[in-house]
Amino acid sequence: MTGDLAARVRAFVDAECIPRECAAHVHGPAAIDATLAELRPLAKAAGLYLPQLPQAQGGLGLNWEQRAAVFEEAGRSYLGPAALNCAAPDQPNMISLLRQGTPAQREAWLGPLAEGRIRSCFAMTEPAPGAGSDPSMLRSRARRTSDGWVIDGHKWFITGAVGARFAIVLAQTDDGPTQFIVAMDNPGVQLVRAIPALDPFAIGGHGELRFNECHVTHDAVLGEVGQGFVYAQQRLEPARLAHCMRLLGRARRALAFARDYVNQRSSFRDRLADLQQVQAMVADCHIDLHASRVMTLDCARRMDAGLPVKTESAMTKVFVSEALHRVADRAAQLCGALGMSEDAPVALILRELRPFRIYDGASELHRATLGRRFLKTPEGDPA
Ligand SMILES: Cc1cc2nc3c(=O)[nH]c(=O)nc-3n(C[C@H](O)[C@H](O)[C@H](O)COP(=O)(O)OP(=O)(O)OC[C@H]3O[C@@H](n4cnc5c(N)ncnc54)[C@H](O)[C@@H]3O)c2cc1C
Repeated sequence: MTGDLAARVRAFVDAECIPRECAAHVHGPAAIDATLAELRPLAKAAGLYLPQLPQAQGGLGLNWEQRAAVFEEAGRSYLGPAALNCAAPDQPNMISLLRQGTPAQREAWLGPLAEGRIRSCFAMTEPAPGAGSDPSMLRSRARRTSDGWVIDGHKWFITGAVGARFAIVLAQTDDGPTQFIVAMDNPGVQLVRAIPALDPFAIGGHGELRFNECHVTHDAVLGEVGQGFVYAQQRLEPARLAHCMRLLGRARRALAFARDYVNQRSSFRDRLADLQQVQAMVADCHIDLHASRVMTLDCARRMDAGLPVKTESAMTKVFVSEALHRVADRAAQLCGALGMSEDAPVALILRELRPFRIYDGASELHRATLGRRFLKTPEGDPA
């Protein structure tokens, strides 16, 4: 069933998403939103919409293993995951609302999000000296008042913020870090700017946000007061796996383009594809893709079995983010000057993949944590 679904997603991406990719989408959240408004009804009509949500919420009810193939196929185009409404940050935000949301919060936010009528963002990171790799440096504060809370803080690199209807905001309280659902039209929320980041196609860009005396009512608290870091961790593990799945598709697309290029292009009378150095680069790309897929699938199966993935998801994230970047980098090299330009998808994919080594935990942070953890176990087994 999933194989058939993945094939249908692939056909949908080829027929509907890739032909709609265009230069106006580069750092153009409004143009991307307009294209998604065309694509989502088509994805719904094709029975491909919301693969990750339970059927009770209007989704296809796929487990993690089944999602892997579908997300990878969707990820061949930057428009694919959002067309199916399984792109970050809405996809992990839907999971947070399902897990921690009250019935009223689900009705207010999850319903419209799942239907694709609104977008959302997740606001945790702050400029120095606030929370970055170290969440305990959280400086945004929420203080209790008689009728709710007042949030003050400064966040940045908040993906999806431009045009989002609400944010899940992490702020420190007297009782510990807490998640709040904040409507973006709250007068206490200021979208300072869209940060022109390296990656060109973030849905809703990357926003810098200020929360100035931002009043919210008691029912804005998502989950329990003081449990914000626990929820953020629970969110991050599957979220980074979902990124691996989608971005595998992006890297595969870059390689497919390079394959076509070297099969056609000649140099000194040899086809590029007949040169051993080129063949070795293509082989190395497939080794990276295969290893990435196997590690991702292993984590997916563990999550489906209810097993912990703290260690495995960190190892997978480090490996996959670096391996996929290598694939796109080789693909760009194989295409020569064309691979350095926006005339072909390869350079844009390379730019999309690079930040994955930073977000969801920088490689160095994961290596530091993994190394410490492994050194404490008898034979280096996962703790
Ligand atoms: C494209 C993109 C999208 C993002 N989207 C979101 C979002 O939607 N919401 C959100 O809240 N945040 C988002 N972020 C922010 C992201 O989560 C942070 O960038 C990340 O947590 C790192 O924090 P920092 O940038 O402050 O880096 P720092 O904490 O300043 O770290 C800088 C570098 O120092 C090194 N380093 C840090 N700590 C250690 C350590 N313990 N051991 C060894 N080396 C270390 C690493 O090389 C790291 O890259 C996004 C970032 C990017 C680039």
